[in-house]
Amino acid sequence: MAAMTICPQCGSSFLQPLRCEAKGSDVLLVELRCSECQAWHKEPHTRADMKELDRQQAAFRATIVDGYERSVAESMEALATCFGHALALDLVTADDFRPRGAAPRA
Ligand SMILES: [Zn+2]
Repeated sequence: MAAMTICPQCGSSFLQPLRCEAKGSDVLLVELRCSECQAWHKEPHTRADMKELDRQQAAFRATIVDGYERSVAESMEALATCFGHALALDLVTADDFRPRGAAPRA
């Protein structure tokens, strides 16, 4: 028995284990959801298979977090660049920082 790591419907490796139920001393019935095609699968896994799934989940999570942090940094850099240009062109005033719904200053 080997851990199901590829979706049999679409071939994606983004399988997310959601629930598991013990079926013996070393066998767990695992419910997996494919993040790509949304298919659900139930497969028996050993505890060693589950460790491998956990390892893969941690690696995927690290990849996602790295991508997210890189995206946030790029976004903040773009905003800072735009803000710098706006300041240089004297387009920013105190009114730009008033709370939403507050009356503009007279
Ligand atoms: Zn799939």
